[in-house]
Amino acid sequence: MPGLYLHIPFCKQACHYCNFHFSTSLKYKEEMVQALVRELELQRDYLQGASLDTIYFGGGTPSLLSSDELQAIFDQIYRLFPVVAEPEVTLEANPDDLTQEKVDMLRKSPVNRLSIGIQSFAEEDLRFMNRAHSAGEALSCLQRVKDAGFENSTIDLIYGSPTTSDAQWAKNLDIFFQFDIPHLSPYCLTVEPQTALGHFVKKGKVPPVDEEKASRQFEYLMDTMAVHGYEHYEISNFAKPGRHSKHNSSYWLGEPYLGIGPAAHSFNGDTRQWNVANNAQYLKALAESQAPYELEPLAPANRYNEYVMTSLRTQWGCDLTLIQSLPKDFSDHFLASIQPFMAEGQVVRQGSIFTLNRAGKLIADHIAAVCFV
Ligand code: SF4
Repeated sequence: MPGLYLHIPFCKQACHYCNFHFSTSLKYKEEMVQALVRELELQRDYLQGASLDTIYFGGGTPSLLSSDELQAIFDQIYRLFPVVAEPEVTLEANPDDLTQEKVDMLRKSPVNRLSIGIQSFAEEDLRFMNRAHSAGEALSCLQRVKDAGFENSTIDLIYGSPTTSDAQWAKNLDIFFQFDIPHLSPYCLTVEPQTALGHFVKKGKVPPVDEEKASRQFEYLMDTMAVHGYEHYEISNFAKPGRHSKHNSSYWLGEPYLGIGPAAHSFNGDTRQWNVANNAQYLKALAESQAPYELEPLAPANRYNEYVMTSLRTQWGCDLTLIQSLPKDFSDHFLASIQPFMAEGQVVRQGSIFTLNRAGKLIADHIAAVCFV
């Protein structure tokens, strides 16, 4: 079932590691909401009338939206698109925005799943990452969200940071378990060259990510999550049974989706398109009723590479019969490329399905890259 993604390109401050598209000036937030409403109208036929199963507000920081702004977007979505009876509606939120008033407002809105950017419960980690919230705010917002009855929420945590000791990583996970949250998205700290962190590492002010420590913390994560009954359904996602992110799973399973807002991507099975990653250019285009996107027909090799990359990261694995059904059959190449990893015990084959085991998950991106054409 298709999904709708809305990109809210504003943040209060820039986290040092982040390379998403956002602006720290909130001056054009209202105009942006009007532009998103206009783009929804322009793209109303993209999903060919199929009902929306999931709606996802990502960013940036969607929790910066006011009640009126959120309402204007929902009004437009429900006016233009059929929506299933019980859609999954996720909104990414930062702890410093989740005041009691904001949580109450969101609880009354169609949002039924919060994705909260906690990253760490340690002050030292948060300062190193230049997060806008404190460790205290991380804890208090989780309590407010729980008390308000958001049962299907998720949080992000980052491991592998130079400031995160093994003991602190274990503590972060302990706190996560105490709140009994059904979903976790843990990410390894990645140093992107165009970010403040990339700059600090290049200048030698900050050490590069210690790969050995990051692997150790990832292994601890896998063990501990399994003990607490979470399924490792994608490399960076764990869920209690039945609590998978429907929206993100539909990306990995190749379902169509429409992306609205600057830098948002859309996919309809045959083509991929992406909006301009510039707020001023986006606003100007929408003021002229133009949807500012570039479009790429997906060549057979691209479709194969995308499928291999995403499917190998999931518990559902990579299906040889699906590779054989693509417009060009790359199955011989896939089988030859994956063979050494099977011999090393990193990939398991059951019938036509190939999945990564524990050792394979530690080098998932490398395995996928070797299988690319
Ligand atoms: S709040 Fe999120 S999107 Fe904004 S800078 Fe930080 S990590 Fe990036």
